[in-house]
Amino acid sequence: MLPVLALVGRPNVGKSTLFNRLTRTRDALVANFPGLTRDRKYGQANVADHEFIVVDTGGITGDEEGIDALMAGQSLQAIEEADAVFFLVDARAGLTVADEAIAMHLRKQEKKVFLVANKTDGIDADSATGEFYALALGEVYQIAAAHGKGVRSLIEKALDGFEIERDEDELEGLEDALSNEPEEFEALTDEEAEQEAQAFADMPIKLAIIGRPNVGKSTLTNRILGEERVLVFDAPGTTRDSIYIPMERDEQEYVLIDTAGVRRRKKVYETVEKFSVIKTLKAIEDANVVMLVIDARENISDQDLSLLGFTLNAGRSLVVVINKWDGLDSEIKERVKSELDRRLGFIDFARVHFISALHGTGVGHLFESVQEAYRSATKRVSTSMLTRIMQMAADDHQPPLVRGRRVKLRYAHAGGYNPPRIIVHGNQVSSLPDSYKRYLMNYFRKSLDIMGTPIRVEFKEGD
Ligand code: GDP
Ligand code: GDP
Repeated sequence: MLPVLALVGRPNVGKSTLFNRLTRTRDALVANFPGLTRDRKYGQANVADHEFIVVDTGGITGDEEGIDALMAGQSLQAIEEADAVFFLVDARAGLTVADEAIAMHLRKQEKKVFLVANKTDGIDADSATGEFYALALGEVYQIAAAHGKGVRSLIEKALDGFEIERDEDELEGLEDALSNEPEEFEALTDEEAEQEAQAFADMPIKLAIIGRPNVGKSTLTNRILGEERVLVFDAPGTTRDSIYIPMERDEQEYVLIDTAGVRRRKKVYETVEKFSVIKTLKAIEDANVVMLVIDARENISDQDLSLLGFTLNAGRSLVVVINKWDGLDSEIKERVKSELDRRLGFIDFARVHFISALHGTGVGHLFESVQEAYRSATKRVSTSMLTRIMQMAADDHQPPLVRGRRVKLRYAHAGGYNPPRIIVHGNQVSSLPDSYKRYLMNYFRKSLDIMGTPIRVEFKEGD
């Protein structure tokens, strides 16, 4: 269970400096979510024996547009997602009107807020930070993010004994999603591989519908659920939770992971569900198959690519859904397609569907690809089959020489499913060039007829 800490404050107070300091101790994957003012960044931190997720909220300006703009902004969503907030102020600049506006907002939130005065290096910190007590947010913590001064003790004070009231497993898996550490494959015997594949076959397919705001997730979810809306649905939790909806289709059971919160809304006209990155990451991690919804009427954005990156990083099966395909003229359709080729060409294994969630066109066919992706990701493989394919690949195209000796592939076996994991044993295999590793991976993919899921191949020395 990792706590989520949001860094807020007006521009230039040192939020990204602190973010970098907190996340750099670890090889953390940092997720960028471009917003109106600046990217929202998510990273994993490990400081003073505390692990947590830190969110750099980007720019709250707080001054010219007033508190309403603040409420509507991205930063507020990040605050809502967080367990605790570090409100940064600039000790050198002193107290500003913008600080007061932000503080007023934070005081209304039921969040633990730590007031952090940054840039206290080389100045009389106590006298410089005294005026911030006027913000009525309790103690003023003094740090110099650029030099790391005070950061450790701030984290200790903020997180020691920090109780997070939430479901045990709410953030389970998120750690893996944010971690860039290579995963360890478990070597499976044929019997274990068989059992695991059978377990997948008996389970409902968990299908997450994700995408940035307004791409049509709610419309698609309602369409899939046959528009039988349950208006009063006693949905638990916060905006950070997805709703899990069991459903059946063509005798296959599914659990729809609804990140758009369709079933949470009590009334049909309550259409706005805030977009939560944490919720989306969690849904990806929890799903077997991810439907990434992209708006045909917008350019493919960095946010779309970030979500795609997370899905692939998590090893999830993927179906790409280009929505709002209705009423576009052919010239625009061609342009969208070539844009897709250009920016998403690297995921040639995923099926792409052009649909209209609004009119229902193409929605039925999505499930063919979902099934295919799930079957591919959980297809039973045996050591003999994998070894045979590996040998065919080596016959077609010999492994290269490394330091004068030919790399020798010995055998291959299963290391797990969803994503399919294959472990290749041999001599000097860890020295194989990436191009040959890719060749082998693609060979496995073709031979096993795997579509819609990334594959992981690991190389192990010896037998
Ligand atoms: P953000 O807009 O809140 O993310 O602020 P940045 O992290 O980009 O920092 C704004 C400026 O303040 C940069 O020029 C930083 O180098 C500087 N800065 C950040 N932390 C410190 C600090 O601890 N001491 C001093 N002197 N400067 C700092
Ligand atoms: P969400 O934020 O991803 O859940 O997006 P919504 O489902 O709320 O849709 C956002 C807007 O796009 C709404 O006005 C929808 O009516 C509209 N929309 C959704 N799907 C389609 C579609 O297939 N075609 C068109 N033309 N509009 C759509």
